[in-house]
Amino acid sequence: MSKERVVIAGAGHAGGTVAAMLRQYGFEGSIVLIGEEPIAPYQRPPLSKAWLKGEADAESLMLRPESWYAEGQVDLRLSTRVEAIDRAARTVTLSDGSSLPYDNLVLATGARARRLPVPGADADHVGVLRSAADAEWLKHRLGPGRRLAVIGGGYVGLEAAASARALGAEAVIVEREARVLARVAGPVLSDYFQSRHEARGVSFELSAEVTAIEPNGVRLADGRLIAADTVLVGIGAYADTELAQAAGLECADGVVVDLDARTSDPAIFAVGDMTHRPLPLYGRSARLESVPSALEQAKQAASAICGRPRPADEVPWFWSDQYELKLQIAGLAWDCDTLVERGDGAADSFALFHLKDGVVRAVEAVNAAPEFMGGRQLIGRQIAVDPTRLADASVPMKALLAGQG
Ligand code: NAP
Repeated sequence: MSKERVVIAGAGHAGGTVAAMLRQYGFEGSIVLIGEEPIAPYQRPPLSKAWLKGEADAESLMLRPESWYAEGQVDLRLSTRVEAIDRAARTVTLSDGSSLPYDNLVLATGARARRLPVPGADADHVGVLRSAADAEWLKHRLGPGRRLAVIGGGYVGLEAAASARALGAEAVIVEREARVLARVAGPVLSDYFQSRHEARGVSFELSAEVTAIEPNGVRLADGRLIAADTVLVGIGAYADTELAQAAGLECADGVVVDLDARTSDPAIFAVGDMTHRPLPLYGRSARLESVPSALEQAKQAASAICGRPRPADEVPWFWSDQYELKLQIAGLAWDCDTLVERGDGAADSFALFHLKDGVVRAVEAVNAAPEFMGGRQLIGRQIAVDPTRLADASVPMKALLAGQG
């Protein structure tokens, strides 16, 4: 193993974690970590929250201190792209023209922000929020007297609107669907978050189609102009599979990987937002855009490369912070037949459990850590619960977990 070389294409949260896990698992070969951005691997979640509000500095975004790469003998090459993969020769070609051999290649190229295909979308007052550079652009445009229009009411849109309000800017969200968070949450949670944003002064244009971005705002299909001096486009992300597709790896809304994070080529792994991964608990595969999923896959890939046993499956989870609301979601509410509400929405502490055939498949928890943690365990164990007792906040989650539910 000592002479082996692992090349990691993509130095984001996923790629950086693969490098760290390889060293943690005792990999003694060489590791080359190649990133397109000019900075060492950093965490993206704070970009739309603490960092945007000026509550976190650049240092605190870093996944590892810069010195760690030299100490851990990870050859970190920044501002560099992997341009092509030669699977037969097991080499990659880099943007500086050089080529690099590998024994194992890990793709961690992530996802890219979708652009809005309307006139005016490339103007200077229009941007996306994916990288530290994007967040820097946005940060300087928020403050008292400023007016932000966010196109898209997903996590990016809601978190950026909450940060804009905290900084004293006005914010309006323009969403194509009839409700916010339509892709990631159920209707009850969507309504709740909209009401909490409205209480903080955010306004909403739902079921709205944007036809153009103009210097003074966003033009809708019904002819109205939604006034704004800055427009943030948060309409989702797509897997960056260009490299994988050109190399002939199997792709289906992401690079198809197995439970070892291995692609259709046994020498090539893929991790993070760019993958279409199996979800054994749900008997399906899907592309998940979440940090915990990327970390789980980083462990899977590093374990496989180091010849360690495959780590145990994890229940997928997600989180978002908006104002004083801590949203934690575990599991995936696919094909559910029953919704159980526990706690008090009016008091901003509650959980929504989504059940299928009596078994909890997902939980959406707001300021309700015990329900989130207990729900996550119930999902993993796949044990049936009594919906009446689950709804009763006086019955401890522990009792439900102990099978007394
Ligand atoms: P998202 O969650 O997919 O939400 C985008 C929303 O924009 C969807 O509701 C989408 O509706 C809507 N939309 C699409 N086209 C539109 C249009 N032309 N006009 C108006 N609305 C439109 O994506 P996101 O919020 O942009 O987030 C991007 C990525 O960052 C995701 O990977 C997300 O998970 C990640 N992120 C996560 C967090 C977190 O977990 N807390 C925080 C920030 C970012 P349709 O469904 O109709 O397309």
